[in-house]
Amino acid sequence: MSSVTSPTAKPGLTEKKLKSLGLEYDFDFVLHLPLRYEDETVIHKISQIYPGMSVQLEGVVTQVNASLKPRKQLIATFKDDTGQVSLRWLHFYPSQQKMLEKGGLIRIRGEVRGSSLWGFELIHPKLSRAGEALPQTLTPVYPTTEGLSQPSIRKAVTAALSRVQLDDSLPDAVLQKYNLPDFARSVQVLHNPPVGTDAFELTQKSHPAWLRIKFDELLAQQLALAAARAARQEKKAFSMSLQPGQLALALLKSLPFTLTGAQKKVIDEINHDLGQAYPMHRLLQGDVGSGKTIVAAMAAATVLENGYQVAIMAPTEILAEQHFLKMRQWFEPLGVKVSWLSGSLTAKLKQATTDEIANGVARLVIGTQALIQKNIEFHKLGLMIVDEQHRFGVGQRLSLSRKGEQLQQNRHMVPHQLNMSATPIPRSLAMTFLADLEVSVINELPPGRTPVKTKLFSDSRRDELLQHVRKEIQNGRQVYWVCPLVEESEALQLQTVVDTHARLQEELNDVRCSFLHGRMNAQEKAEVMAAFVKHELDLLVATTVIEVGVDVPNASLMIIEHAERFGLAQLHQLRGRVGRGQAASLCVLLYQKPLSQLASQRLKAMYETNDGFEISRRDLEQRGPGEFLGVRQSGLAMLRFADIEKDVQIVDQARAVAQELRIHYPDSVAKHLHRWMRGKEDYIRT
Ligand code: ADP
Ligand code: MG
Repeated sequence: MSSVTSPTAKPGLTEKKLKSLGLEYDFDFVLHLPLRYEDETVIHKISQIYPGMSVQLEGVVTQVNASLKPRKQLIATFKDDTGQVSLRWLHFYPSQQKMLEKGGLIRIRGEVRGSSLWGFELIHPKLSRAGEALPQTLTPVYPTTEGLSQPSIRKAVTAALSRVQLDDSLPDAVLQKYNLPDFARSVQVLHNPPVGTDAFELTQKSHPAWLRIKFDELLAQQLALAAARAARQEKKAFSMSLQPGQLALALLKSLPFTLTGAQKKVIDEINHDLGQAYPMHRLLQGDVGSGKTIVAAMAAATVLENGYQVAIMAPTEILAEQHFLKMRQWFEPLGVKVSWLSGSLTAKLKQATTDEIANGVARLVIGTQALIQKNIEFHKLGLMIVDEQHRFGVGQRLSLSRKGEQLQQNRHMVPHQLNMSATPIPRSLAMTFLADLEVSVINELPPGRTPVKTKLFSDSRRDELLQHVRKEIQNGRQVYWVCPLVEESEALQLQTVVDTHARLQEELNDVRCSFLHGRMNAQEKAEVMAAFVKHELDLLVATTVIEVGVDVPNASLMIIEHAERFGLAQLHQLRGRVGRGQAASLCVLLYQKPLSQLASQRLKAMYETNDGFEISRRDLEQRGPGEFLGVRQSGLAMLRFADIEKDVQIVDQARAVAQELRIHYPDSVAKHLHRWMRGKEDYIRT
């Protein structure tokens, strides 16, 4: 194993370049697999070649012409016994010209251009001596970086391959049972495919050698996730008694509605976890408007009744505040003190709340990221609920996972954690990236909702749209008008909101209208939001600050300006702000031409479906898993070779093998993880 851990000693510029590609240890080179291959194992005949073909020819140069006009170039005629092609150089040295003029048999390599009618040509072909031995393998072309040539990468890979032990990380019994190709052989084939290897299978990654590599990659991921899960189950959490549940019952009784079947089901799942002596790590998925908040409150009720504190954290101040108001309305009549913590509180208030959290007076605490700041110490935190969890960065998720841990009678206690998200994660992603997360799904909307209709309007129909706004407001409904993000400048964005508001106020003179954007202070925001909730406002012009969670059932019209600039998940979230009450709701996507292809696909998706899962699937398709999960920038381990959509069968197999290895072959587990996950330990921990 030392070969994996000792960096290859090769100082200098090349080493730096290699390192910038993530190539440092021998095994990094082993897994730096070619993008494609060139076939230099044969000499082609000019009579066989066609445009686009990569060819290698042997023949003689019969004519050389260096010209300066119309531009500087060097043109030569090259012949073999079946035909002729021209060679052309736009940059050349006198020495090259001399070599060509010397005549004699030479070997050239390059890509064919032109047509059979006007003649073929090779631009900047590579020259070498004729008659040299031909390679016996296809020539790999590696991913590389500026200033690092293919030959130097090849040399480094070959050197690493000769040093490293490629013994199999999997036991023979497993290889046989699952009919897996040999690892060493697979690696060798991919770096140096023997003459006759199916080039199509290689580039499509369907060659058995690729299957083995993809399998190993997915296996490593499954093993890492299983290790994370096992580590969590070793930790201790306060186990909640679920009887008699008076607080939960009282809360239920006070609601103006009854729970849907799906809500009851997920509450049962959560309660089951809360009864365990190790920390819950559960993701609650439910489309926008499916009623996740009351589920969170029911979980909180169980934990509060057991005498522990509960925290609810939301990504925006507006959403957190809304939760605070809701929870206060639900819990204070039942005798539970509900506290509020956010970065925008005055220092004095903040200190007071911080103290209450520390001494246990605060039982249910709602807030923003302020809740996971270092100075916040909980008295006895039993449950942390995170709303719209995907909105938080990885760093925040990490400090979250440590929050509230405490020593209790010499045991390290970890709070239970419930994450909520309206961005459903497709099965393929959940299986590969979130295996250490139990998932509950609310797959049913509360009764009586009419699905939101979606219309696409080009900008030119703005007048028609204003008519519609007026009518809706006359009917006693409320309207959101969303202005887009202005990437270049926040100031410009605020200006857009202010201008749009002024213009609409003028156009719709007697309508009660206000605006909301990220730069207003917390109190201003809260006041505007409260006025909208109380229906003292008819029209709210806003940025995406209202994107998540905002719940005003009387709002029935959502207008999104420049909808082409928004991402799919964002559009779906925004649309979810309407259709929350009994009235039929409409979402208008105003767009400006010309539309890029991706933008028109997004708008089409919005028009075609209301189903969050379907939207999510298409979003994943457009953006790829890294961006979808928001982990690209964090440098976390993403799959390099396997494709979670196409290789879903391999994922299943890898899961099965991971289980088997963990039970019967712990040494193989260690060896495999060491090979694949070096330097990614953080990922394993999150
Ligand atoms: P989300 O899942 O998007 O967070 P919310 O929890 O904000 O959804 O719920 C959306 C709306 O539906 C709220 O007004 C809430 O009071 C209401 N609601 C939740 N559950 C039910 C139910 N079972 N029956 C009727 N209305 C419900
Ligand atoms: Mg919500």
